[in-house]
Amino acid sequence: MTFTSEAPEVAGAVSERLALQPHLFVDGAAVSATHGGELAVVDPASGHRIGTAACGDAHDIDRAVRSAARAFRPGSPWRRMTPLERGKVLHRIGDAILDRADEFAELEVLDAGKVRGAARSIDVDFAARAFHYFAGWPTKIVGSTVPTSHPGIHIATEKEPVGVVGAITAWNFPLLLCGWKLAPALAAGCAVVLKPSEETPHSALWLAELAVEAGLPPGVLNVVPGRGADAGRALVDHPLVDKITFTGSTAVGQEIARRSADQVKRVTLELGGKSANIIFADADLDAAVEGSAAGLFWHSGQTCSAPSRLFVHRSVHDEIVRRLTAIADGLRPGHGLARGTELGPLVNAAQQDRVAGHVRLAREQGATVHVGPDVPAEGFFHPATVVSDAHDEMACATEEIFGPVLTVLAFDDTDEVLQRADASEYGLAAGVWTRDVSTAHRATRALRAGTVYVNGWGLTDPAAPFGGFRRSGYGRDLGPDGLEGYLETKSVWTFHG
Ligand code: NAD
Repeated sequence: MTFTSEAPEVAGAVSERLALQPHLFVDGAAVSATHGGELAVVDPASGHRIGTAACGDAHDIDRAVRSAARAFRPGSPWRRMTPLERGKVLHRIGDAILDRADEFAELEVLDAGKVRGAARSIDVDFAARAFHYFAGWPTKIVGSTVPTSHPGIHIATEKEPVGVVGAITAWNFPLLLCGWKLAPALAAGCAVVLKPSEETPHSALWLAELAVEAGLPPGVLNVVPGRGADAGRALVDHPLVDKITFTGSTAVGQEIARRSADQVKRVTLELGGKSANIIFADADLDAAVEGSAAGLFWHSGQTCSAPSRLFVHRSVHDEIVRRLTAIADGLRPGHGLARGTELGPLVNAAQQDRVAGHVRLAREQGATVHVGPDVPAEGFFHPATVVSDAHDEMACATEEIFGPVLTVLAFDDTDEVLQRADASEYGLAAGVWTRDVSTAHRATRALRAGTVYVNGWGLTDPAAPFGGFRRSGYGRDLGPDGLEGYLETKSVWTFHG
């Protein structure tokens, strides 16, 4: 098989973005990091440095938070903006993303190691759709009147923006997560400081510029790339930040929850997962195999809801393992911008080592490991891998691997598999493949996960809440529940005699 890990030519606008002076985006303008911090930008598919980004620190976070707090003051242009106008601004941001969809997709490929087709049709499209969806909400945020038993008193509730939001995001969906976090926060009327992952800062910085061009007042959206231990912690600890919305690992989410508790700060946590996916014997096996493989292998398994724990009924187990390994063998690795690439790289060398370590351990623990064909030697690739003959207690069946590694476990009956599937500390997503409607209903009730798919996997919709049970987090992104996370409820009592 021939493949290339070198990037083909990229669009002029993308080269220009990568060549920009390293900057943060604060108070409506590009500014340098106060102490001149820099981050190397590396193309994961080649391992080569392709640019430099600014690395903000606690001082920069303070500047950005103060800018957001000013933008949120009573009487500011943002607070005076009507709900209808706020919705129009959000809509224009969505349009601006789509106007540059191909360039955004290329930028995501180079920054995050994505494959162009998926970056364009999933990341970019979904970011735009989140802004378009939430553009409809500002005019529909309503309170209620309260049927009080007190005579001469009128009570009404009002929904108000929570205030200054600190958003901290992961590297696996840099632009898409901007849509998930920023669109509902802005629809609610909040001001935001976003700290994107240090691995992937470019798309968020570009989006912030476009948002100001779309009519967002300066200071309402600030972007400070930087490291988690420095800029991230400073954002969590800042007393002027009213709420943290976080997408990332469970370990960091736990720390954020602990630190936020000191200030009783509101927190939404979208964390890791080890999602169970169950194929019953009566399922449409073609659809189940294709859907399960696609759900796991796209973005090289670096998705929070990856169906990485696949339970298969023993009667079809061997056939399904055979078909999954054939799919793994057929995935064409390469640079995400090269035509025909189906399997991109992992985000960095540390992640590559981690995934390889998990595969080694599975083999040492006695599982059967099928490693797909060779991948490019340069860059941070890992072959598509299927692990079978595994047990529920093995690390490959319990820990989030975040790589193209699918663990298959055999089961015999429905009660047994529902219990085993549910025996996880995570609860982000789950899936069930069956033609029997009562099996499907039993499973969707039994599986404690924020999203349960029946005969499909992996779609999201801006109108559908997304989030986790248990250690996959709390609170929700997207949909009305996502918006609610950026609102406070105020009861207004009027004594009218
Ligand atoms: P990570 O937790 O290492 O980093 C996420 C973000 O947190 C980054 O911006 C990082 O700089 C910042 N950060 C790190 N330490 C911090 C600290 N002490 N205080 C404040 N901020 C800090 O996660 P990652 O490796 O970037 O992303 C992969 C993880 O994200 C996986 O576990 C994946 O499941 C999860 N994820 C979850 C969802 C979801 O919706 N549930 C979506 C995407 C990714």
